[in-house]
Amino acid sequence: PSLEYELLRRRVQSNVGELWNYFSSELGKLRKRVAPTQAELAQDINEVLQLGAEHKRSLLNDIDRLRQVDGYEAWRHREARDLSDLMQRRLHFLQNPKDCANARKLVCKLNKGCGYGCQLHHVVYCFIVAYATERTMILKSRGWRYHKSGWEEVFQPVSETCLEADAAHASNWPGRHDMPVLVLPIIDSLMPRPPYLPLAIPEDLSPRLKRLHGDPIVWWIGQFLKYLLRPQKGTLDFLEAGRAKLGFKRPIVGVHVRRTDKVGTEAAFHPIEEYMTHVEDYFLTLEINGTTVPRRIFLASDDARAIEEARNKYPQYEIIGDPEVARMAAVSTRYTDTALNGIILDIHLLSLSDYLVCTFSSQVCRMAYEIMQTLYPDAAHRFKSLDDIYYYGGQNSHNREVVIEHAARNHEEIHMKAGDLVGVAGNHWDGYSKGKNTRTNQVGLFPSFKVVDKVETVKLPLYEQVQP
Ligand code: GDP
Repeated sequence: PSLEYELLRRRVQSNVGELWNYFSSELGKLRKRVAPTQAELAQDINEVLQLGAEHKRSLLNDIDRLRQVDGYEAWRHREARDLSDLMQRRLHFLQNPKDCANARKLVCKLNKGCGYGCQLHHVVYCFIVAYATERTMILKSRGWRYHKSGWEEVFQPVSETCLEADAAHASNWPGRHDMPVLVLPIIDSLMPRPPYLPLAIPEDLSPRLKRLHGDPIVWWIGQFLKYLLRPQKGTLDFLEAGRAKLGFKRPIVGVHVRRTDKVGTEAAFHPIEEYMTHVEDYFLTLEINGTTVPRRIFLASDDARAIEEARNKYPQYEIIGDPEVARMAAVSTRYTDTALNGIILDIHLLSLSDYLVCTFSSQVCRMAYEIMQTLYPDAAHRFKSLDDIYYYGGQNSHNREVVIEHAARNHEEIHMKAGDLVGVAGNHWDGYSKGKNTRTNQVGLFPSFKVVDKVETVKLPLYEQVQP
């Protein structure tokens, strides 16, 4: 398929969602303004909302079927497999230098003072820097807060041949190109900041990635996780057993409810009903042509009550989840060996789900979403976030390019000309996004459908020694 066809197909798909977000939100606002004496009007609005939602589901279902029958589906699968193979072979090459003693190295310390998702994202950032600077990444993981004896007991070592760096010759970032060992700080303290940090993707892969994938940066991050998370035998057995014990099977929607320490500090509280509305919508979309799909969700949380509450309120759903795992995930017991199994299993099962409903403010769900990209040619649209759009902690600015001009209609909106770049802060999921027009420095709301994502590309080593 041509690049233009694939971009348009995906744009239609996401803008059907945006169109419905807009109308349902506006109609919801109108309904609130209806006086108590006008019950009939409120009822009419409800009916428009109901049939409108069916319209949207029918369209989304058709667009998905269009993809399946347009003749390019086999190509998508082949291309996804080839690109992933290429990336995995490059990473293997980087991590297994012929002459370890003389290979240049980058030291990464796993034990950043934060949760599992945050620590893994820290390692991925190190790995990207290693890839960009052609240094073998040395992962220091002794004393890991989730598993004291280190990474290698849980996941396969990041190298088969080269696991130590000569501490006596280590220098701090940025150092010089010829220095044998560099130690990398956390992304927030990185000075200077190189251009290849997320959300940039490598220029050499970019034409293929843009054609294949709806959000190439998520694919790119997912490939590093794919390499890192190759499980040890014990972990693999545990994941298989956990999956069987819970009775996890597809079709299933993965729901992640992040509560405890996150609520009120980094994210807002969202009631279970809000998650379930989107779950229901997903199933109704699958069922629009008359098929029946069993209502099944996998629910992961750091609050066992979320699982219990969902089971009480939604008896028509099969709710797979382990309140015991959620209890272990609470702040007081979180950083232990026992809790580690729980978070690995939860992220694994979330990533295996057909669709994710969660808050992207949490690194747990973002990570599940990233891993999900390694399981489909393009799973960019398989999520509903109740808060943030996708981001990577410490990322460079995220720009969207204006494709349809916009004249602000009130003091909250911004003016936009075709070609302007808008630094996007978030999507309000009501048809509008918020951002800053980099041409005018004006900050405010704009209709989400009037922009397209600007994929940042950067020149990176070509790894020509690795056969394409
Ligand atoms: P964030 O704080 O939500 O952005 O994600 P982090 O992964 O950085 O830190 C949160 C930590 O809380 C996780 O790493 C887990 O230890 C724990 N946690 C949060 N949600 C869950 C969950 O759904 N299941 C399990 N098992 N643990 C969780």
